[in-house]
This record gives sequence, structure tokens and C-alpha cells, in this order.
Amino acid sequence: SLLREVAAGRPDAPALESVPDDGGAPRRWTYAELLAEAESVAGGLRERVALGARVALWAPNVPEWPIVAYAAALAGVTLVTLNPALRAGELTHALRTSEAEMLIHADAVRGYDMAGTVRAVTPDLPGLRHVVPLAAWESLRGAAPLPSQEEIAAVPAQIQFTSGTTGDPKAVLLSHRSVVNVARLTFEGLGVHEGATVVSPLPMFHTAGCVISCLGPLWSGGVFTLLERFDPKVLFEVLRRSPDAVLTSVPTVLTALNDVARSADGAPARLSSVLTGAAPVRPQLITETEELFSTTVFNLYGQTELASVVTLTRPDDTAEDKTSTVGRPLPHVACKIVDPDTGRVQPLGVPGEICARGYQQLLAYYGDAEATARKVDADGWLHTGDLGSMDATGAVRIEGRLSDLIIRGGENIAPGPVESFLSTLPGVRDALVVGVPDDRWGEIVAAVLLPAADRPEGPDVDECVARCREQLSPHKIPARWYLADGLPLTASGKIQKFRVRELIAEGAL
Ligand code: ATP
Repeated sequence: SLLREVAAGRPDAPALESVPDDGGAPRRWTYAELLAEAESVAGGLRERVALGARVALWAPNVPEWPIVAYAAALAGVTLVTLNPALRAGELTHALRTSEAEMLIHADAVRGYDMAGTVRAVTPDLPGLRHVVPLAAWESLRGAAPLPSQEEIAAVPAQIQFTSGTTGDPKAVLLSHRSVVNVARLTFEGLGVHEGATVVSPLPMFHTAGCVISCLGPLWSGGVFTLLERFDPKVLFEVLRRSPDAVLTSVPTVLTALNDVARSADGAPARLSSVLTGAAPVRPQLITETEELFSTTVFNLYGQTELASVVTLTRPDDTAEDKTSTVGRPLPHVACKIVDPDTGRVQPLGVPGEICARGYQQLLAYYGDAEATARKVDADGWLHTGDLGSMDATGAVRIEGRLSDLIIRGGENIAPGPVESFLSTLPGVRDALVVGVPDDRWGEIVAAVLLPAADRPEGPDVDECVARCREQLSPHKIPARWYLADGLPLTASGKIQKFRVRELIAEGAL
């Protein structure tokens, strides 16, 4: 395994450090210590379950999280990663869907009684044979023999659940080949130097956390600095003491971090690179981050079904390239844009559904052959459900979700470009557009604007309409306008447009 290789090469180098909520002294492991710990937990897992069993991990960001993840790989079991915020019904559903035989769980997270929830759901889950709290860490150790490299490779690495941006979360089965290579090729794309520290405030259970943050540092042979809770002030200080680090982030993290950096006393640290993904990023956010941290921001695009990354910008891309596109496909992955109605490849620049084919795509939606067949066609192309176009250089531009495409009187309107334009208007921090039902047109465009911090009363809608008339074709100009302070988000910080449509229909916006 990767961890064994790195530990053999640099046993005494620092491998993992975990920063507690208050930013106090981190707990630390060297590569040799991390490997010994992971091997001993792997032995304990195999005393309880067989090769290929599903072992679920339900915990917030704690250092035991990556240790269990490395242990699961060494033991040849499939790790099921679960959001610590799940409530009883959701937890039951996830454990049942993944047919987990073992659950390792935290006792509590910020006032939520996770242990109590576990006690409440286990009677309904006869297949769940072992439940071990992280508090009983010593009892997780064991000495059962561990499988060979070949045996491990034949077992799926992980089951991760999608964010639920478009509906219920789906159980995605991923191979070792997928997660290990995505981490490797992403880090190669960043040009990360050997020994680089990777700082991650992202939730570990989500695909970017468990693939990029958890496995990436093994490729750089550097330290994985895990933040147990995302606090922008703590993150700022951690970066200050980790020169030339790589930061894995999402736009909401960068927005909060930059606010701290602008008002901080000391100078921000220089970062070797900053990754952002999971959601559209505003152009100003990229340029501001690059200036503040003397760094290069990389925009990456992916989804759980593609082990988190399928396209990545390049170090020499201009700020314009990085904001208008999500870069080019990783090596060894093919991408195409197809007309969603006919399946034919679109001409360059014409939007359609983004499809990808390569080593990294999901093995299946666990236990759901029908959903898998809808996602991956007979020729092996995975349909992302995202709307985008490709330019002559192979760079991909995201224009929204296929399900969010607005069809007004037969005319297709991609929400992405309209949102980008609206977010440049005075007094607007962020903007989103959705289609709402209309008797005459079928659907019309509705805009929801979030006011800029320096203009809490919100933008002037008449002025926005006037600016739209100058810059947008008439059918794209929003017919309804709403101002909002916040929007319904998933745990990974993504806007749930289906909920926004519901709120508009309920008159709640
Ligand atoms: P569900 O499938 O349950 O609705 P989800 O699609 O949000 O949830 P994820 O796999 O976490 O689940 O998210 C992937 C999606 O996030 C992509 O399909 C895309 O729509 C969006 N996305 C990812 N990266 C970017 C990016 N850099 N820019 C814009 N959108 C992005």
C-alpha cells in the first residue's frame, strides 16, 4: 500500500497532525507511527469482519478518521463514509443501503448525541454485527493477518454518499484504482513539491476530503494537517505556521478565510497552491486569494461518482481561464459534451451534458443496478448530469445542472452565465437563477440575489433590470426577483436549487 511505501522511505517524517477546535496544540504522528497504528487497527477490523465487508465510519473530523481509513485499506474492507450530521432515519438508511457489518462512531459532535442515535437505530439493523465507539479505541486494535496487495485491490475501497444537491444522497462504490489515481494525478497537476504540507478544513466524509485531503499528502510525502473544525481564524493561523502548504478548500471556506486575512494584524502565509471545487467560484474570489496568499488557485470540477476530480485548471492558466472554466480533464480520462436529447457530440462551444469515461468512475451505485445503468451508458460513458461546453483547447465550462436548465417557451437557458453576470451587479454578493412554472412560457427565469456586505438593504432591482437589458438577451432576463439573506445548503456548502424552487412555490422567499 501507499502508506507502507512512504513509511519505508521516510519513517521519522511527520505524517499527520490534527488541530483541535480551539486551534491549540495539535496531536501528531510520524509516518512510522501512523503505519503502526493503522496496521494494528486493520488487524482489529479483520478479527471482526471478513475480506470485502463494509465498515462504516460515522465521525466528525478527528485524527482517528484518516487512521481508520488507512486501516480499512490495509484490511481489505470497504470503508463507508458517513456525514456526522445524519439523523436517525438517515443513518439507518445509509447503513442499510451499504449493508454495513460494522460501525465505528464518535460519541457526540457539538451537542449532538451520536452515541444515543446509534443506540436508537441498532435494533433495526440485524446485519450490523459490530458497533465500536471511537472512545473505545484500544479495543479496535488486533493482530489478525492482513491480506495481500492483490486481494486488497479486488475489494472496493469506499462507499461515499453524494451531497443530495438534487435529491436523496446516492451510495457510490469506488475502487482503490480510482481514489488513489485521482489523488495522485491531481497532485501531479498542481506540481506539488515533495514534502508539501496539505491543510484541510474540509469534512473528511465528503469525497474531496476522503480522496484529495486524505490520500494527496501520501503522494507529496508531506504532513496532512487536519482541522477538527472549520474556523477561519484557526485556519489562518495554521497556514501561517505551515509555509508553502497546499490548501484544499471550497468557495465558502475561501470567502471566510479572506475576510480574516484582510483584517489580520500579521501578513498571511504564502501558500504553494489552493484548490477550490464543488461549487462555482466567483472571479474576484480567485484573484483576491492569489493576491493575499501569493499563491496559485486551481479550480477543479468533479463529483462523487468520479472520485471528486475530473477536470483541473493548469498552473499557467490566466485568472480568466480559471474563473470561466474548470480546466481540462485529468490524464487518462476522456470527456465529451453531448446533446441531451440526441446523445450526439456537440460542436465546440455549444452546451450539452458533460460525460466522462475513465479509470476513476464509480463501480456502481451500491445495490442499485438500475440507477447505475442510468448513470453509465452501454459504451461506458458516465453522464454527469451537469451542463457545460468545451472550447478548442479542451477546457470545460460549467453552465449548471441539467436538471436546473430553464426551458422558457422552448428556449434553453443555462443558469450559470446568467448567475455570473448578476453577481457582478452593484450591491450583489451572489446570485442564483431558477426556472419557475409559468402559464404562458412553461417556465420563466427567477433570480435570487444575496446583498453585498457593504449594502445590507440589498441591490436596487430596477437598476439590475436596466443593466440586464444592456447585457443579456431578453429571454434570459429574470422576470421575478427575490432578495434573500441566505440559501438552503447541503453539508458540503452547495445550494439546493430544488429547495429554492420549493421555497419560491411556497411563497417563503
Ligand atoms: P446529488 O448527486 O445527491 O444531487 P451532488 O451532485 O451535489 O449531490 P457531489 O458529487 O458532491 O454531489 O457534487 C458534484 C457536483 O458539484 C457536480 O456534478 C457539479 O454540479 C458541482 N461542481 C463540482 N465542482 C464544481 C466546480 N468547480 N464548479 C462548479 N460546479 C461544480
